[in-house]
Amino acid sequence: MQTLNCNFHIHSQRSACAGAEMTLVNILRESDRLGYQRIGICDHAHRKRDGMAEHLRLARSTVKRLGSKVEVLLGCEAEMHSPADISISRATAKECDYVLVAANHYHLSWVENPRLKSARAYARHYLKMFEGAIDSGLCHVVAHPFVIWRIQGVETEEIFRCYRDGDLRFLLKKAAKRDVALELNPRHALQFSGFFRRLLEICRSAGCQFVVGSDAHALQAIRLPISCQQLSRLGFRNDDFIVPAKCRQSGGAVPAQA
Ligand SMILES: [Zn+2]
Ligand SMILES: [Zn+2]
Repeated sequence: MQTLNCNFHIHSQRSACAGAEMTLVNILRESDRLGYQRIGICDHAHRKRDGMAEHLRLARSTVKRLGSKVEVLLGCEAEMHSPADISISRATAKECDYVLVAANHYHLSWVENPRLKSARAYARHYLKMFEGAIDSGLCHVVAHPFVIWRIQGVETEEIFRCYRDGDLRFLLKKAAKRDVALELNPRHALQFSGFFRRLLEICRSAGCQFVVGSDAHALQAIRLPISCQQLSRLGFRNDDFIVPAKCRQSGGAVPAQA
């Protein structure tokens, strides 16, 4: 079976929600074992002054000391607290190889939710959060895009139906213009294949590309739960994928490997 050779959304043990086994040594060993060419480690940056910049400098020197065949990018997973408020500072973003931004962390108590708990209200609010991520000027990749889950009484699929093609096209064109990519979380693509087919079509016409990331919180989740064949059945091609922002010049798409 063919697999993709990279994963750009891996949490280390610095993220409170990740397992204790997610040390840099273990992450590198597992990625090497899987034959990955590049990985990206992105821990949560929930607040502006949380020591992320210092952490990144330290992690960079640790990765260098460990040495690895796998190219390691170090970024963070920032989040939108509201459409106009992103969780990181420009100074922290500068320390990152790329910044993932989650615009759908509605389960966190400090993240603004719409007043009305309906699919339509969440869809409308999310599109504003997504646009806010682009407008922040700090976002390279929108993490797990458009999927809103864990809202009591509101179905994820129902929210998908509330996104209008015209609104998606407008935002994705804007994203492409600002060099903002979308994350492709394989689990979401398989679970919500209908929506992701629709999204892919709109992304192609808007010129927006994808970055692969599994949102791994445990070692076993570093392996992507999707094969190249499954991705191609969903309609994806190699040239739909890029490596995130700053290293874009160092290589194009994500080649498949046996
Ligand atoms: Zn997240
Ligand atoms: Zn994450």
